[in-house]
Amino acid sequence: MKILIVEDEQKTGDYLKQGLSESGFVTDLARDGVDGLHLALTDDYDLVVLDVMLPRLDGWQVLREIRQKGKHLPVLFLTARDQVEDRVKGLEYGADDYLVKPFAFSELLARVRALLRRGRTSESELLHVADLELDLLRRRVTRAGKRINLTAKEFALLELLLRRHGEVLPRSLIASQVWDMNFDSDTNVIEVAVRRLRAKVDDDFEPKLIRTVRGMGYVIEIPEPA
Ligand code: CA
Repeated sequence: MKILIVEDEQKTGDYLKQGLSESGFVTDLARDGVDGLHLALTDDYDLVVLDVMLPRLDGWQVLREIRQKGKHLPVLFLTARDQVEDRVKGLEYGADDYLVKPFAFSELLARVRALLRRGRTSESELLHVADLELDLLRRRVTRAGKRINLTAKEFALLELLLRRHGEVLPRSLIASQVWDMNFDSDTNVIEVAVRRLRAKVDDDFEPKLIRTVRGMGYVIEIPEPA
């Protein structure tokens, strides 16, 4: 299990690194937000311990970038201020848990272990692209932490797109998988459903994730930067 610690305060950073290493984790320590983000996106971690007040790039920006790039590893953020807004903001940006400084190391360790356990069991039940998440178990969809209500067909359509994300799905495949019907019977049904799904998951958010590939079908993916 590999943990990334992003913490600029020398003493706290060293203390966390030492403590987590002694508890059997492989750890990397970044001293500012830019380095932390770079490591989080390029290396393969099981969890990030993220301080909020950081030089160069603050913890909120790091967290947002991590989620926008579609990384779904658990993030535990550390906040020095016991403010409700901070906690709400962190959880809205996609953090999984938080600790208010100063904290006991045993408390941090307990949170880390709980998050790692949760991450493992829910992995196969959670589909996502960028900040769009579909929870199969709870039949729930959220984007940027906001709940989105879908009909059963829209849910099935989104599930199919997410299961094969990055792949262009022909209308015939969507028709047979979601509607159990032949492509020829009524393609309009698919177009209408995709339009409705888009209105719910893409209209109020950036980036737009569902794309029509003319003459081919539909794909869900994080768009390439223009
Ligand atoms: Ca700090």
